[in-house]
Amino acid sequence: MPHWYDVTAWNERLGNDSQTIHSLRRFRTRWLKQGWTFEASMSEVSAPVAEILKSEITPHPLSLAERLDSNLDGATKLLFRTDEGLMIESVILRAGTGRTSLCISSQVGCAAACRFCATGQMGIARNLSASQILDQIVQANQLLQDEDRRVRNIVFMGMGEPLHNADNLHEAIAALTSPLLFDYAPQRLLVSTVGIPDEMLRLDQKFPSVNLALSLHSADEIGRQDLIPLAKRVPLDRLRETLLQLKLSDKRRIMIEYLMLENRTDRPEDAEKLIAFLENIEAHINLIPYNSIDGADDLRGSNQAVRDRFAIRLRAAGYPVTIRYSLGADIAAACGQLIQRENRQIAKQLRTTPVANR
Ligand code: SF4
Repeated sequence: MPHWYDVTAWNERLGNDSQTIHSLRRFRTRWLKQGWTFEASMSEVSAPVAEILKSEITPHPLSLAERLDSNLDGATKLLFRTDEGLMIESVILRAGTGRTSLCISSQVGCAAACRFCATGQMGIARNLSASQILDQIVQANQLLQDEDRRVRNIVFMGMGEPLHNADNLHEAIAALTSPLLFDYAPQRLLVSTVGIPDEMLRLDQKFPSVNLALSLHSADEIGRQDLIPLAKRVPLDRLRETLLQLKLSDKRRIMIEYLMLENRTDRPEDAEKLIAFLENIEAHINLIPYNSIDGADDLRGSNQAVRDRFAIRLRAAGYPVTIRYSLGADIAAACGQLIQRENRQIAKQLRTTPVANR
C-alpha cells in the first residue's frame, strides 16, 4: 500500500483519468493546505474513491493526547501519542506579526544526550516515520484553521536529532515542499542539528534552500563535549570544515544556536572562541536562554547584562545576533515532566519486545 504522500502511486492506484486526478488534487489541497479534516476533504472525490481512501489510508498515525496553551504568550504545546504509546511534542508559536511557526519532533527521545535537555535524558531514541513527522503539521494546521491561521515556518527543533533519522526527514521534506502536497517553500523549513557532518552535507546537497541550524552551544572542545556527549565523535575542527563546505549563498546563513550558561559559555573568552570558530563563515547567531531541567543542577542560565555584553561583542565582530526569549515557559515544565515519566514507563514495557526502525 503506498504512503498517502506518494502522489504518483496514488494516481496510478485510483486511475489516471483527468477527472480523478483533479479531484484528488482538490482533496489534497483541502486536507494538507487548507487544514480541513480528512473526512471533510472527501467531499472532493467520488464515493468509490472516498471508500478506497478511507479504507487504505491512516490519516493520523499520531493521536493528540493533550493541548497546553500558554497564559503568557502565543505558544501552544501539542502532546501526541504514537501507536506504541510513546509521547512526543510539537509547539505552535504565534508571533505578534501574525506569522505562525511550528516546532516539530523527529524522534522519540534522542541519542545525543545533551545535558541541558530533558529529551536527551529520556534514555530512548526511536525514529519517527515520515508520516508521523508530517502528521504533526497536518494536525497543527487543522487546529489553526479555527483561528484562520496556517503554519508558515516549520522548524525541526523538537524532540530528537533530525539527522539521526535522515531518510525519513528527507521523505518528509520532499512532501512538505511538493506543490502537489503541502507546497511549502523550502526557505520556510529549518533543520537543527548538533552536528552530523556527512548528513549535513547530504541535506545541503539534496535540499539546498532548506535552512540549517547548528546547535553549537560552546566553541571550546572540552566545554562542548561536557554539554553534548555526542560531540566527542565530532571535533570542532571537523564541524568547522563542514560549515565551510556548505553551499551558503548570501541569502542564506547558517544559524548558530548558542546556549547562554553562566561561567560555562558566557565569558569574554567564550565569545572570542566563538568568533574564531566562525571566521569566514556566514552565520547568524541565536543566543538562547537556559530553562533549568531536573538532573542538571550545576547548569545555570546567564543573566541579562552578561547576555547583552556577549551579543555586543559578537555584533562588533560582524555577526547578526538575535537574543531569544523562551516562549511558553509556563507550559514547558509540566509537559516535559509528563512526557519523560510516561515514555520511561512505556519504554520499560517495550524493552521486552523486538524493535523495528530504532
Ligand atoms: S540534540 Fe536536541 S533533542 Fe537531542 S538531546 Fe540535544 S538538545 Fe535534546
